[in-house]
Amino acid sequence: MNAIDAVGVALPRLRISTGEIADAWGRYSGAGIAQKTVAAADEDALTLGIEAAESAFARGSVDPNGVSTLCFATTTPPLDTEEVVPRLVRALGLPSSTMTRTFTQSTLAGTEALDSGLDADGPALVVAADLPRGDPASVDHPFGAGAAAFLLAETGSVERLGSANHVDEFAGISYRERGSDELTGLDITSYERNAIRESVTSAVERLDTDAGVDEFELSAIDGAAVFQPDARMPSRAVTDLPIPRDALARGTVVDRIGDAGAAGVPLGLAAALDAAGDDDRTLAVFAGSGGGATAILFEGHVDSDFDAELDAGSSVTYPEYLRERGYLGTVDVAGGGAHVSLPTWQQSLDQRYRLAAGRCPECGALTFPPEGACRSCHRGVAFERVELSRTGVVRAVTSIGHGGAPPEFAEQQRRDGAYDVAIVELEHEGESAMLPAQLTDSETGTVEVGDEVRAVVRKLYEQEGVPRYGAKFAPVER
Ligand SMILES: [Zn+2]
Repeated sequence: MNAIDAVGVALPRLRISTGEIADAWGRYSGAGIAQKTVAAADEDALTLGIEAAESAFARGSVDPNGVSTLCFATTTPPLDTEEVVPRLVRALGLPSSTMTRTFTQSTLAGTEALDSGLDADGPALVVAADLPRGDPASVDHPFGAGAAAFLLAETGSVERLGSANHVDEFAGISYRERGSDELTGLDITSYERNAIRESVTSAVERLDTDAGVDEFELSAIDGAAVFQPDARMPSRAVTDLPIPRDALARGTVVDRIGDAGAAGVPLGLAAALDAAGDDDRTLAVFAGSGGGATAILFEGHVDSDFDAELDAGSSVTYPEYLRERGYLGTVDVAGGGAHVSLPTWQQSLDQRYRLAAGRCPECGALTFPPEGACRSCHRGVAFERVELSRTGVVRAVTSIGHGGAPPEFAEQQRRDGAYDVAIVELEHEGESAMLPAQLTDSETGTVEVGDEVRAVVRKLYEQEGVPRYGAKFAPVER
């Protein structure tokens, strides 16, 4: 059975404060939420998941090629019907033999993924990433975005002591109709609150009776990440249970990031495990729209970068927020850009995600993309595949203003404004290669020649309705 070996967190860089929303609307009554994270035009559940997973690998004891199971949870996959995990496998460089599982449908997806990963044979990666959308005309809609990744191995420092479940039908709490983008609820608050409280209470009490956790005492629990669609729900959900308030505070993050859907409790758990001592017990309680709850009890400490991620953001105004989230209508992009067919695109995935270059067996020079003749000795050689470093130096940079972008980038530009394109020099064992790439997570025009940047996988554009992803570069001092 697995334990938690490492945790990684990814939050969008952009934030909007409740004050900014109140200024635009004259009021804001969102329950206890001071700030929401705002996914940029090139961020989605996949890119946030990749970023969280990369962070978990950076601090864990398992390499990507040692992972045998991948569990991915989201309620907002990039496409309604199409597996998202193959993209995750490719982007992270996991083995093609990886067993993959996708969990979706409700906010319970996060716990289902985590429980499955803990049950798996061999090292597992669990990623919960979500960015629920609400009606932009509803001032109080609390939706944020984020991702948490858990690297699991037998030798991990955080052990699962037990898990228990409760399921019953409570329809209409929070749902998204077929074909709709936006999450709604029936707003029958007392019904909703009772449904969640009953489910949560039953699941947690069963940790003692059914899961047989020894010396289980709720009043002595050190941390608790409880279902958090808003900041009042965690304490309301556990009204019938003697969980200490300071334990709840350790695992509540919705007040600073907004409702992150299926990633909400995983992010709260990441924050609580970071604050935990080596013998501390932390409870994670997930509830699902539709009815049902799962409780998992953990013991131990693991570092997460939750606080650092939270501190790294920058604020946007209300109009910028509407634009980034695509609330200001959509445009049809006319053809005529650099159309790349999907088969050709598929051949280039290793370059786009893993920064795969070709090393010349004759002279040792690097060529990117690894096609044609060697850039240095001009011989037609069979390149050896190498991966370039994921941090590099900007050698040239320019801004692409409105009207200057190829049509496939028009939608991004409409949402995100002008963007920078740079030539980045990346190294591998003393040799280097130059590649052109978009910059992201930076104000246009602020990155200079000589600056250090790091690769992040982001959405590039959609063609034939299919999103395409690849490396962009973000400033290193993030
Ligand atoms: Zn050569």
